[in-house]
Amino acid sequence: MTESAPRPVETGTQHRSDLLDLRGSLQLRHVDAGSCNGCEMEIASIFSPVYDAEQYGIRLVASPRHADAALVTGPVTKNMAGPLRRTIEALGAPAVVIAIGDCARDCGVFAGAYGVEGSVTDVTEVHLEVPGCPPAPADIIAALRRFSQT
Ligand code: SF4
Repeated sequence: MTESAPRPVETGTQHRSDLLDLRGSLQLRHVDAGSCNGCEMEIASIFSPVYDAEQYGIRLVASPRHADAALVTGPVTKNMAGPLRRTIEALGAPAVVIAIGDCARDCGVFAGAYGVEGSVTDVTEVHLEVPGCPPAPADIIAALRRFSQT
């Protein structure tokens, strides 16, 4: 089963897609900075036959050195703040960071938890935020297509 392409919608509160000319190819390095794994389930769903994000040139890659952007989920735990910074440093320019889910945006239900360093914005510059707990797959794809549309 396939669905028609979702229309680009205003899902984010910040974005800098005008800096990118990716011509239909968006390679993403996913970083789970402390998620409950709910957001991961929705990210996995976008690559299912139903949503088929790869038809828009959106792919997950194993190394930040092969990625255009970091896809970050969860609040940033104290243990993951350093690895997240190093992952972003390893991205190719312009090192786009996309925060997926309410926890990544503002720590969500984990706000104030003893092991949490802060939101993704507290650790690094964020270029696009996708709200929701977790965000719906269609909203994630619509947001990512801002970068992958030709
Ligand atoms: S936004 Fe919701 S689903 Fe995503 S990591 Fe936080 S609690 Fe889990």
